[in-house]
Amino acid sequence: MELAQLQDHELLSIFMIREAIDHDKIDANQIPDKKQLYQEIRNRYLNEFPNTNPSLELLELYLRKKGRYPLLNALIKRELNKLVLPQQIEGETLDETDSFFFHNMKALLPVMKKQGAVVLQDLMEKEETMKEKIQVKLPYHQLQQYIIELLTELDPTLEYVDFYLQSLADEYIIYIQKEDDLKKRSIIEKLGLYQYGISIASFPMNCCIEIDGQPYLIMEQKNMLDDFSTFFHEFAHYYSKSKKAKNQKPSNSLAEYFSITYEFYTFMFLRKKGYSKEVLEQMQQPRNQNTYAIGTKLFDLFYYMSTYIEKGSITEEGEIQRQEELIKIQRETFTKEYLEVLETEAPECFHPVLSANLSCDLCIEGLIKNQFSHWYYEYPYLVGQVLATKTIELIQKNQFSIGELKKMMENADFLDPYDVFVKLGFSVEDIGLCSVVKREKTTNQKAKLKLNLQKTVDKN
Ligand SMILES: [Zn+2]
Repeated sequence: MELAQLQDHELLSIFMIREAIDHDKIDANQIPDKKQLYQEIRNRYLNEFPNTNPSLELLELYLRKKGRYPLLNALIKRELNKLVLPQQIEGETLDETDSFFFHNMKALLPVMKKQGAVVLQDLMEKEETMKEKIQVKLPYHQLQQYIIELLTELDPTLEYVDFYLQSLADEYIIYIQKEDDLKKRSIIEKLGLYQYGISIASFPMNCCIEIDGQPYLIMEQKNMLDDFSTFFHEFAHYYSKSKKAKNQKPSNSLAEYFSITYEFYTFMFLRKKGYSKEVLEQMQQPRNQNTYAIGTKLFDLFYYMSTYIEKGSITEEGEIQRQEELIKIQRETFTKEYLEVLETEAPECFHPVLSANLSCDLCIEGLIKNQFSHWYYEYPYLVGQVLATKTIELIQKNQFSIGELKKMMENADFLDPYDVFVKLGFSVEDIGLCSVVKREKTTNQKAKLKLNLQKTVDKN
């Protein structure tokens, strides 16, 4: 049997052998199928290279060479099916709200990469100056004063302020000190958080969770200036969750957009309050670091996913060619000094075959380790920051009103991310974005997508 003809689960088990080898856990009684597969692979290797006694390392290299691309294709197909087939991920049912991402992966990739480059440049420029972290205190009463002030600025009708005060009174918004285990315990018991697997040790901090349809904003209060931007990030989640229809939720692509916009808005507010540029830049660092880390981790995955949709499979030749092009771009873009450092420290970056295999292997390992698709929850931060940055830019130029943003938050369940891109003045045609398939059509669409995926996979 050729490796390429193996089923998903068999391919997965082959890769799992490595872990078993690593941990010396090949036990015939516990994992008979793996033991058998291991023997088969060993025999196949011996057929191809007789008179050798393959070491585990050699077997693994052989295994990767034979299995790398079939396995990558199988895993990518599995991830894509999560977007088109109704199924559960960590207790949430994915639905048609994800079709925007499914149809626009390829178009979004350069947009997100451009953002990654901006963020990286910013991080590099500030690396030196940011070494000394400036600690700025913000006691509780002052935090409350700022919150009320900004809520009033964001919504002069005072609906936000009323809503905030009522939520505090109802204990839907809860402040908690980091060391206050007593209060944590009482909240866990009151909200029945144990059934969600939440304990004092894993108590969620700075989050907005929904329990029986009621959102709760839980805020770890550190008495530092960051509390203020953290609060507004979570407040946007809390407000839009309170406004949404039951069982509805906004497109995954918009899940972080409003929150990051409010978070960024707090920096403008604090600037007016007289906080220094350095302090505010420092406050933005964690968001940029996070965005950069997520981006570098996910770009190859999204590239593979969009290639799979477009071409039906990811091939080794195609990947080597892509790396050749990337290397050419690197040589043209980077400075001579930087290229020298890169060539000494990471020579594989300039070897098309090695770098193609490396990104393939990294992606495989990531997908196997994250069975529950962390990328699905991390991607909204990438697109969210793109949209938020643009929104703040327009607000500063008086080309977009903060009231408009509030209206969007209230109707987020029915918002097509495509329309948001249009509203913010992105040239959707140049980017190549397309609109989300209308909700009523999605059942048919899903069936069609499923069929297409099936067809393309069968070709392999
Ligand atoms: Zn968030």
